[in-house]
Amino acid sequence: MNIGVLGGGQLGRMLALAGYPLGHGFVFLDPAPEALLGIGAHVVAPPDDARALAELASRVDLVTYEFENVPVTAARTLAARLPVYPSPEALEVSQDRFLEKTLFTRLGIPTAPFVAVDSREALDRAVTEIGLPSVLKTRRLGYDGKGQAVLRHPGDADGAWASLGAAPCILEGFVRFARELSVLAVRGRDGATLCYPLVENRHQGGILRRSLAPAPGTTPVLSADAERLVRVLLEHLGYVGVLALELFEVEGRLLANEMAPRVHNSGHWTIEGAETSQFENHVRAVTGAPLGSTAPIGCVAMLNLIGRWPDPSAILAVPGAHLHLYGKAPRPGRKTGHVTVRGDDPLVLRERVATLERLIEASG
Ligand code: AMP
Repeated sequence: MNIGVLGGGQLGRMLALAGYPLGHGFVFLDPAPEALLGIGAHVVAPPDDARALAELASRVDLVTYEFENVPVTAARTLAARLPVYPSPEALEVSQDRFLEKTLFTRLGIPTAPFVAVDSREALDRAVTEIGLPSVLKTRRLGYDGKGQAVLRHPGDADGAWASLGAAPCILEGFVRFARELSVLAVRGRDGATLCYPLVENRHQGGILRRSLAPAPGTTPVLSADAERLVRVLLEHLGYVGVLALELFEVEGRLLANEMAPRVHNSGHWTIEGAETSQFENHVRAVTGAPLGSTAPIGCVAMLNLIGRWPDPSAILAVPGAHLHLYGKAPRPGRKTGHVTVRGDDPLVLRERVATLERLIEASG
């Protein structure tokens, strides 16, 4: 099949790399001519360009996305002509933190307390209701910790409101989590659903640095809980494809932070660390193929390369390490690639991770 993809970043590239062996072709819609490094066909235009959307629709059998800030109108325009997975409704919910958390609450998925904040006065009322510390987040277009500010003292409200450009926001209770986790699941066109094991994620400055899979020290109860939450969401949305649900673990309980209606950075470990990668399973799901096993292979870590490009030979010299470079010039805060490393037991893995972290840290 020919698969259209809205967006042409590294997630799109990895989708194509997983889809080619299954016999599929890819056409990406992305405004940056240098996107994708020559992988797949490329319509160079923004996703709200009506002519480009019509061209894309004429060249593919179905459409999916690799980033969630695609205009919902573009997804709906395409959906009127051909199958679009996941549905524009899932995209719409994920683009607005208030709609997203309201849906979670309706479905019984626990979250931090939150309220919508549409004005400076509403922020004062929200602080009274939620208390301090709390986190102010823009409802839309926030990612990697951008578009948010922590309020610790009543006097922080003015600065936080101004720093987010007086945009519509939500105020959330600050969660003193033990750790951050995510659960990725894939649902096929026939409703068959599989979950990957829980992943432990460490962020710095709002950006994912390291994922460990399966998340160490996870009880069967916690895993079952995560699986239940993500299944409720997939069922409700009639979802097709891979979805990631980001979670906080607090005293053995899970709170949902946000969902991503696409393949996710905390699932990159699956390329070498699971029976079927998240990318292959997304392609399988959207094309109506049977899903592949989500079982992990040993213990796996994924380290993001952020603003750095280490010596590939040094990375590859570490046993069990695999390197993925995205072809992006290093800039502060920019994800330029990732390293996956496997070990047969957690101790071996820990040593390999420590070696890799030193190498990455030392690189320019
Ligand atoms: P987000 O953009 O919502 O994924 O948030 C980025 C990061 O900020 C998360 O991965 C957490 O480390 C932190 N964070 C977000 N929301 C909260 C919260 N309510 N309480 C504490 N930390 C948070």
